[in-house]
Amino acid sequence: MIAIAERPTVQIPTKLYTRLSQKEKSKKIMKWIRFRDKKLRGKFEFLKHQDQLGLAITLGSAAGMILFAGLYIAGIIPAWACIVANGILASILHEVEHDLIHNLYYKDNLKIQNFMFWMVWIFRGNTVSPWYRRMIHTLHHKVSGHKEDIEERLIGNGMKFGLKRFITMMDGNMSFLFQSHILRREAPKFKRSEITRSSWPYLVIYFHLWYNFLFINLFYIGNELLGKPIEIPAWLDTVRHFLNISAVVYTIPNWIRQTSIQVVSSNMHYYGDVKGLHEQTQVLNRWFLFPLHLFCFNFGSTHGIHHFVVNQPFYLRQAVAPFVHPAMKRYGIRFNDFGSIFRGNRLGKEEALVAA
Ligand SMILES: [Zn+2]
Ligand SMILES: [Zn+2]
Repeated sequence: MIAIAERPTVQIPTKLYTRLSQKEKSKKIMKWIRFRDKKLRGKFEFLKHQDQLGLAITLGSAAGMILFAGLYIAGIIPAWACIVANGILASILHEVEHDLIHNLYYKDNLKIQNFMFWMVWIFRGNTVSPWYRRMIHTLHHKVSGHKEDIEERLIGNGMKFGLKRFITMMDGNMSFLFQSHILRREAPKFKRSEITRSSWPYLVIYFHLWYNFLFINLFYIGNELLGKPIEIPAWLDTVRHFLNISAVVYTIPNWIRQTSIQVVSSNMHYYGDVKGLHEQTQVLNRWFLFPLHLFCFNFGSTHGIHHFVVNQPFYLRQAVAPFVHPAMKRYGIRFNDFGSIFRGNRLGKEEALVAA
């Protein structure tokens, strides 16, 4: 009789990369990003003209917004098409602003850089001044996930799940109301007067257009429903007409853009129990986020890459993403951790209960 040899038990060696420290894992991810970045820059000559590309994208997006506004006013395209197109174009300008904050365009020619800053601010009025944002965003990279992170905390990052968090993510003014007294205590760099000053003029103009548009239309609808008890003067019709046009071409697209990025950003950063770069962000790239990602240049999918390598323009960050994501997954970056929304963006569960 032939004895059947027993099948040897295969000892699967622990994969080397799982034994790395978080710092080492972060270094590996950086290497993968830089490798792909270098390859793309080598392959496509035009990427060398980074300054000019940035300027062309800025002028092109701004001109596009004016063009779509014109097409809508001329009755050639419907309101929804103008809202979608201008929302997307404004979201590209938001990316340019972020790149400018990191000095990626015209760092040796401040005249042009400042011109670009003005452009990206005028066409996206519902943000604080980009020069102030430069301060809070640089701080964000230093203290991401901690109490001092003014930029993220102002859009609800770290707050408990609920109505208050929802409103904070949706409305900058309400957020300021809810968060400013806490931030004054916990974030030394937070100064209410600085934020108020940096809202002038475009954020103030934006909010006037936005709230007047909302209130005047509420008034008209209410009046209509009640059988028109108030006779509306002709001048108010003219004001409403102007506000409604500005809403389609400017305020609604920017409201959608800003809300989309705030919802995504507020939830893709971790908060409270973050110990290092490796734990600062997750990747959000499920298909159902598409409507939000359409208006924030795929932020949830690519902003994590930016935390590891900051000196990449937004289009290159997007271009390296398909190549870098598998590496991020391998080195332990979380993907689509939607539970974070219910844990006040904590990595772990226990801390959520204590600190939210
Ligand atoms: Zn970030
Ligand atoms: Zn940044």
